[in-house]
Amino acid sequence: MADPLWLADVLRAEGLKVIEHDGWKNRGHGDFLDIRGVLCHHTAGGGVNDWRVVQDGRSDLPGPLAQLVLERDGTFRVIAAGVCWHAGRGSWPGWPTNNANYHVIGIEAVNDGRGQEWPAVQLDAYKRGSAAILRKAGRGANDCVGHKEYSSEGKIDPFPIDMVAFRRDVQALITNSTASGGADVALEETFVNYRGNTVTLGTAVRFIDQHVNEIREQLGGPKPFNGWPQLGGKTMVDAIADTNRKLDDLTTAVNALVAASTGKPAA
Ligand SMILES: [Zn+2]
Repeated sequence: MADPLWLADVLRAEGLKVIEHDGWKNRGHGDFLDIRGVLCHHTAGGGVNDWRVVQDGRSDLPGPLAQLVLERDGTFRVIAAGVCWHAGRGSWPGWPTNNANYHVIGIEAVNDGRGQEWPAVQLDAYKRGSAAILRKAGRGANDCVGHKEYSSEGKIDPFPIDMVAFRRDVQALITNSTASGGADVALEETFVNYRGNTVTLGTAVRFIDQHVNEIREQLGGPKPFNGWPQLGGKTMVDAIADTNRKLDDLTTAVNALVAASTGKPAA
């Protein structure tokens, strides 16, 4: 199973305050398939008891509703390691459409979503916690996504955070971490690449980063990878799916025409 049993350790290693709830490693609606990112929410409550709903659920939706709750003082409550019901319907490049719960970790930050201020300590923990998770999962800040960006159901959370600026800070934290264990030194090491040239790891990482982003742009459109204008605002996958659907409709129509003209169903 791919459940993030490392959540509490990774957040602590980032210097964050962590409360582990009893039984969190066994709580959830089944196991993760893999971990592709972080989905950022606000609780819409704003008080000290918001975590209860996240853990226990509502009358219409059984808990847990997210793996993590971020308190206003920057403390992370670790609620669950298994799948939680938080994403709903929506899409993001690289995530399965309408099925993100099995692939992304939900953070419910305590805020009423109606203009309550975001304390600096909470925002800082939000970014550092997201960076720690993404680094552990081998992902970049492009997979740190606001529910309002992912959702096709009109979500507004986390209100009113500018997710583009948020991702910029998260990426800097992923790259410059002191918790990643001497990465700066290792990046000066050299190796012989496939062309026979001696290069540093740092140079290789920069090229990989650049090329991965170019590939993602081809698949998902210009950053933040939400689709290409010449594909009607769709990503490559959505555009191909659309074309397939139209081909199916066309085949059905042709078969109906053939059947009507011969009196026999088409083969
Ligand atoms: Zn949400």
